Amino acid sequence: MSSILVTGAAGFIGSHFVRYWVEKYPDDHVVALDALTYAGVEENLADVRERITFVHGDIDDSALIGRLLAEHGTRTVVNFAAESHNSLAVLDPRRFFQTNTMGTQALLDACHTAGIERFHHISTCEVYGDLALDDEHAFTESDPYRPRTPYNASKAAADHAVRAYHETFGLPITITNCANNYGTHQFPEKVIPLFITRALENERIPVYASKDNRREWIHVRDHCRAVEAVLQRGRIGETYHVGTGFEASVDQIADAVLAELGRPQELKRIVPDRPGHDRRYLLDCSKIRDELGWEPETGFEQGLKETVQWYAEHRDWWAPLYGRSPVVEGTLTRG
Ligand code: NAD
Repeated sequence: MSSILVTGAAGFIGSHFVRYWVEKYPDDHVVALDALTYAGVEENLADVRERITFVHGDIDDSALIGRLLAEHGTRTVVNFAAESHNSLAVLDPRRFFQTNTMGTQALLDACHTAGIERFHHISTCEVYGDLALDDEHAFTESDPYRPRTPYNASKAAADHAVRAYHETFGLPITITNCANNYGTHQFPEKVIPLFITRALENERIPVYASKDNRREWIHVRDHCRAVEAVLQRGRIGETYHVGTGFEASVDQIADAVLAELGRPQELKRIVPDRPGHDRRYLLDCSKIRDELGWEPETGFEQGLKETVQWYAEHRDWWAPLYGRSPVVEGTLTRG
């Protein structure tokens, strides 16, 4: 039996990854670590709670990480832990650098000291800056980093730290930079669940003024499958992009959600962009497709339908989280 430490395990993608791993590799032991910030929901792991070890702790706590790695004989670490909300990063940049950059560095230190076999780091398409709406380029793994927001910059700095631990100390690392995820259990501050939950309540949905700005969308399960492919077949020291090529603007997302729920267009309310709002990201994913044979499986239409349905059926999950986000979207003030 091997042991895998998953950080940020009570968050959106981390909890999907833990459930995915437990189902697919029942003989592995998952140690799930999370600091349970406002965005961490321990209940996300409820259905696998008996089969994993959950630890309430911070990636910044090297001593704790060192103890966990030794105690469980853990050889693989997957780092999802992060402050992840761009809007909050505008109001409170420091907590982003503290967790995303310094926290990752502390985790790297503990992993290096323990001599683990793989450190996999979860990063984002947003480290490359943005593309013009009519740009024909898609970011490749060798493009320069040009982050434009505190969230993006804190993630970019973490990626550099991860590579530095590989080059300098020989830590066996891999990195994935992923497009925008959607699916069940996503905190209702993020755009798709924000639109769904507001529309379900017949409240106005805040659409940024630059409503043609686009994102590339991937279903969270496809992201988990990509991380699995990189853990199993990825080359040490390498970075792999994870995306689908499917782009939709914020306005198209609003329309799709309203149509799915049968709610009127009038629920849309145009709000000012947040400062530094990126226009567009698109990843060239030929490396992971060609080298590892990974392909996304879930089309956006089907994925969105299932996601909308899940939120409609799980008001008990999201209603208590509604007021927990520190940001009031559309006003960029604290909640
Ligand atoms: P999330 O905010 O839902 O989850 C993050 C989790 O990390 C939370 O449970 C939080 O409690 C935990 N956490 C925060 N600080 C911590 C700390 N210091 N120590 C331990 N745990 C801590 O975010 P998410 O959307 O699930 O994102 C997970 C990862 O994926 C992040 O690294 C993010 O940058 C990356 N990513 C997200 C997307 C996306 O579209 N959501 C896209 C690409 C990459």
